[in-house]
Amino acid sequence: VNFGDQLVSPEEKTRKVGEVFSSVARRYDVMNDLMSGGMHRLWKDRFVSRVKPQPHEHILDMAGGTGDIAFRMARRGAAVTVSDINADMLGVGEERAAKKGIEGLNWSVQNAEELSFADRSFDAYTIAFGIRNVTDIPKALRDAHRVLKFGGRLFVLEFSTSDWPGFGELYEQWADKAIPRIGKAVASDEASYRYLVESIRRFPKPYDFERMIGEAGFTRTRTETLMGGLVCIWSGWKA
Ligand code: SAM
Repeated sequence: VNFGDQLVSPEEKTRKVGEVFSSVARRYDVMNDLMSGGMHRLWKDRFVSRVKPQPHEHILDMAGGTGDIAFRMARRGAAVTVSDINADMLGVGEERAAKKGIEGLNWSVQNAEELSFADRSFDAYTIAFGIRNVTDIPKALRDAHRVLKFGGRLFVLEFSTSDWPGFGELYEQWADKAIPRIGKAVASDEASYRYLVESIRRFPKPYDFERMIGEAGFTRTRTETLMGGLVCIWSGWKA
């Protein structure tokens, strides 16, 4: 298993990803704005508009971190369980929810690969910028399928590969040079941000990931590319 440019065991990768997010938790939100030029807000808005959360629904926001996706869905009236493997990220999220006065959220530490929830518990499962950090992605997708009700929907937001001419190279330069530098300056943590850049580079191409969703048991799979595929929204349905 790869961790950045090192080869490590699966257990080691899960542990190191834990260290990365514990280290960045406090600065995570400001870093997202700096690294994406604020664009992550627009991608997240688009993502939630595709999910179309309804007031009677119970949604699992996996790898929910500091709550950006969960807050948007709770504001539309859905009951949301925010889960993440990292208690530090969820802790920052709970503080933010209290400050913003957002209610209707449950917080639960969980590994996406082996959820403790019963079969057929949720109407929708969302995971935003989280799946690439999971060590065994097919396993996490199968568990997503298990915890969804029949008729439930899966939505994944993640970085992938842009096919806009020249844009990919431009982005690579930004990612290689600027992101670790911003990480060093703002969060005094260059190594964590190098890992994040490397994990984006290794993520499957848009239609390869759609195939993986199908292999986990989802039907009516769909890929929506943003900025030529730099960021994608994938969805699938549990029949
Ligand atoms: N969804 C949030 C957002 O869009 O702002 C947070 C995304 S953050 C880049 C990735 C999150 O994935 C981190 O909070 C990390 O702890 C979590 N994560 C990594 N591996 C995980 C796993 N195996 N199970 C659950 N969460 C995991």
